[in-house]
Amino acid sequence: MHELSIAQSVVEIVTNTVRQENLHRVLVIRMKVGAMVGVVIDSLKFSFQAITVGTPLEQAQLTIEAVPFQIQCTTCGRVSKIDDGVVQCPLCNSFETCVVSGNELTVTAIEISDD
Ligand SMILES: [Zn+2]
Repeated sequence: MHELSIAQSVVEIVTNTVRQENLHRVLVIRMKVGAMVGVVIDSLKFSFQAITVGTPLEQAQLTIEAVPFQIQCTTCGRVSKIDDGVVQCPLCNSFETCVVSGNELTVTAIEISDD
């Protein structure tokens, strides 16, 4: 259960970032998840909900931004979105590429209500 352990890490990050007395005021937790990480976003959300029931984070919404896998070709310089994970430039077929995005797995913001 890859997603469950990620959900547990998210809870840990939030718990370590937000003071205990403010945990119940967390409204939204924003994350970026890259396409190459292999996370099923719906199952990550489900896991997060499941493990926060009955905790101060019960009301918190996990908002996940899916980041596409993108490579930049060092031969033609173009950036391409890749769906199959093959690091070959679809424009000039070069394998001289580097990964631009798609490996993200980070909590980017935690929003807390004012009152
Ligand atoms: Zn190219």
